[in-house]
Amino acid sequence: MAERSWPPLSPFATGLAGRCPRCGQGPLFAGYLALAPSCTVCGLDLTPADSADGPAFFVMWGVAAVVVLFAGLTEVLFSPPMWVHLALWIPLTLVGAAVMLRPVKGLMVALQYRHRIAFDDPHG
Ligand SMILES: [Zn+2]
Repeated sequence: MAERSWPPLSPFATGLAGRCPRCGQGPLFAGYLALAPSCTVCGLDLTPADSADGPAFFVMWGVAAVVVLFAGLTEVLFSPPMWVHLALWIPLTLVGAAVMLRPVKGLMVALQYRHRIAFDDPHG
């Protein structure tokens, strides 16, 4: 397997889909956010690919920007009572972050692979 060369794949296609950044087929995750130890298809070692809290940073700021924008627009346009804001934006923030974390983490791992960060000899 190590002798084979792998054509470059889009980090966006593989990462956002949660697929191995080298072959694009094996699953990247072994849980909600836990990376698989290695690719089940091409054998790429995924243990050095830990992106730590990088994805959380981008998701936090992305979701916050969207929520603040819509909360501001809602206040200006409708001036609802405060409980409406709380009922809308707290759940939306939590769900938005939960939904976005996995694809953003996949993208960051795929970008690390593409730019040879953390992986020793990732392109075989
Ligand atoms: Zn693979």
